[in-house]
Amino acid sequence: MRLMCVMMIGGMVLCGHAEDLGPGKSVFGQHNFTEYSLGELPLIIAAPHGGRLTPGEIPDRTSGVRDIDANTQELARTIAAVVHERTGKHIHLVICRLHRSKLDANRDLPEALQGNAQAEKAWREHHDFIGQACAAAVKQFGVAFLIDLHGHGHADPRVELGYLHDADALADSDEALNGPAYVKASSLRWMVERGELSHTELLRGGQSLGSLLEARGYPATPSPRMPVPTEPYFRGGYTVSRHCDAANHVTGLQIEANRPRLRDTAENRLRFAHVLAAALDDFFTMHLGFGLDGQKSMRTAIPVTRQSPWPVSQSSTKR
Ligand SMILES: [Zn+2]
Repeated sequence: MRLMCVMMIGGMVLCGHAEDLGPGKSVFGQHNFTEYSLGELPLIIAAPHGGRLTPGEIPDRTSGVRDIDANTQELARTIAAVVHERTGKHIHLVICRLHRSKLDANRDLPEALQGNAQAEKAWREHHDFIGQACAAAVKQFGVAFLIDLHGHGHADPRVELGYLHDADALADSDEALNGPAYVKASSLRWMVERGELSHTELLRGGQSLGSLLEARGYPATPSPRMPVPTEPYFRGGYTVSRHCDAANHVTGLQIEANRPRLRDTAENRLRFAHVLAAALDDFFTMHLGFGLDGQKSMRTAIPVTRQSPWPVSQSSTKR
């Protein structure tokens, strides 16, 4: 068993074994560069680009994107809090606390870091934490649902849902997308192979996550409204590709959140967190056989009527 530093409630730093801790308690990697808040639900959220630590001993990366996905660490923590409020239980939460200028945890080596041993250790810890979280969820529920949470700055303020297919692939026919090559490459492969819906129905049909978010007032793609994303569009990166492995019973996606009216203020993050939790509750109920609380439900989720999540008076505010 691995010895790690542990932050107990009250802020006292102790050391202990992750296995000895309960849900909602955090395990930290070396120098607190990485954090894993243990969960008891099938949902794992990882936030690789929301870190703010810039230790001088780790050199800045000299290539690749080095900008923070602003407020995505805070958004991930808000989603965790909202799910706890809704279910009384904790999700698994994995945070890279290092700034992206020091480490890009959503890239493979060597692009992820600048040849620094501390940064490489943090990179390994981040992915070990995700692996541990997924394994715990699979052991408990038979499946793990991983969301790698990001923020994009694209001109179109929509939520981009990345299932490891780029816009060109999503422009292919339903027949092709439902064929074995695309399904094999999909982060939803586990669900496609076990569920009743086709791959394209899960990606952009009426019961897709994009549809469930749009029904609650958040533009999203792929979705019935925008089945093929306009470019630029993020397809999902290293983390989803590495961990969403049907053979290991792990499925999920990359979520790229727009900034205006979603992650720019604490109020907007809280509003989106409630919407995402409700959408995931429906999505899990329809496609995984249990709700967001992990409990089997006879309830049939029905997408809500389209509505605006923000007051009309704010609808024309600048971005
Ligand atoms: Zn990102």
